[in-house]
Amino acid sequence: MRYLACRPKIAVLLLVIGVLVSGAFAQKRIRDLKPTVILISLDGFRYDYVDKFDTPELKQLARMGVRAKWMIPSFPTKTFPNHYTIATGLYPEHHGIVDNNVWGFGTTFTIGDRTKVQDGRWWLGEPIWVTAQKQGQIAASYFYVGSEAPVMGVHPKYWRSYNGKVPPQMRVDGVLSWLDLPVKERPTIITMYFSDTDDAGHEFGPDAEETRYAALNDDDYIARLVRGLARRGIADKVNIIVVSDHGMAAVDLRKVAFIDDFIDIKNDTDRILYTNEINQIFPKEGKLDYVYAQLKKMPFATCWKKGELPERLHYNDGERIAPIVCSTEIGHVVTTHARYANSTKDMADLEQPRGGHGYDNRYQEMGALFIAHGPAFKRGYVAEPFANIEVYNIMCKILGLKPAPNDGDLKDVRKMLR
Ligand SMILES: [Zn+2]
Repeated sequence: MRYLACRPKIAVLLLVIGVLVSGAFAQKRIRDLKPTVILISLDGFRYDYVDKFDTPELKQLARMGVRAKWMIPSFPTKTFPNHYTIATGLYPEHHGIVDNNVWGFGTTFTIGDRTKVQDGRWWLGEPIWVTAQKQGQIAASYFYVGSEAPVMGVHPKYWRSYNGKVPPQMRVDGVLSWLDLPVKERPTIITMYFSDTDDAGHEFGPDAEETRYAALNDDDYIARLVRGLARRGIADKVNIIVVSDHGMAAVDLRKVAFIDDFIDIKNDTDRILYTNEINQIFPKEGKLDYVYAQLKKMPFATCWKKGELPERLHYNDGERIAPIVCSTEIGHVVTTHARYANSTKDMADLEQPRGGHGYDNRYQEMGALFIAHGPAFKRGYVAEPFANIEVYNIMCKILGLKPAPNDGDLKDVRKMLR
């Protein structure tokens, strides 16, 4: 009897606890959302990883939205030039970040040099966050190439200095918390960045099981974001654009050519900006023709004088491009003896496959990812490959912004929009 009498009280108590708990975790729904874009960059996520590694969330977004067969990165297929092309709609020759290393102002810009990365002088053109804020909208960036510099004197209203150790889940939750802001403070364009697939791709190559796990990590971050949007009632109202900057090629470190077998670097050049996949060569005065003639003999690379690169590469304009540009054959390495010795000294096994990018964008392995989902996009639409200069115009169109002059043309991608 006594036991039975207690039960209603317990039931009431449980009910109260239940309400309190659900109240604490209930997400306030967002009902006054303006047209909004979240641009997510997955560094080095090759276009075919979605199928090859079977990433469920990205597959679902593609099924319910738009997917490009692949997106064509700009040359050189490096991280900084391509992120900034996606943000500005400009080829690297026009936005000034012509490689991960850039010669200008009598000094060399490198991606690890915080002072230069945060110096607005290097960043030409008008990135989407500046376009948005100039036209009265609010931009936010939880890491994106270029967002740390005041471009045209403007930062995104919300931004952070890059720190690759910030846990990806925290980045997602940070973006969601910006959407929880009152409408007057809420960003309409948000950029974010994850490096997992690039890190694994370089270390293990594009075909490795490790790289599959990295792709699945990226997929989980996006799933976390989509769940967060759903709890706010805006999963179908926000436009999500998932891109990568470039793909990834398997590299065999034994397939190497050495620049210093063909020229005397100290006596023949003022400087060389090195990467394994693209080398920018600045010959000493009067030595251009000699250096060029010598480098033409080098295997595993194609060298051009500035102004003579194929038109399709869009890499001739702009004062920051070197007098000679050497582009390495896919899967190969072109460097110096010293750099090669240094980069391989801790490697147990040169035969182990690795990954690289930066090669000519005509190679299929450099193909980038483009998946988009939201009210602006058709459902289940597969787009033919298009150049990454088009993403800026797509974002401007969705946000109702007048685009700054750029190299893209909305008519090339209009069909993917509703
Ligand atoms: Zn990259």
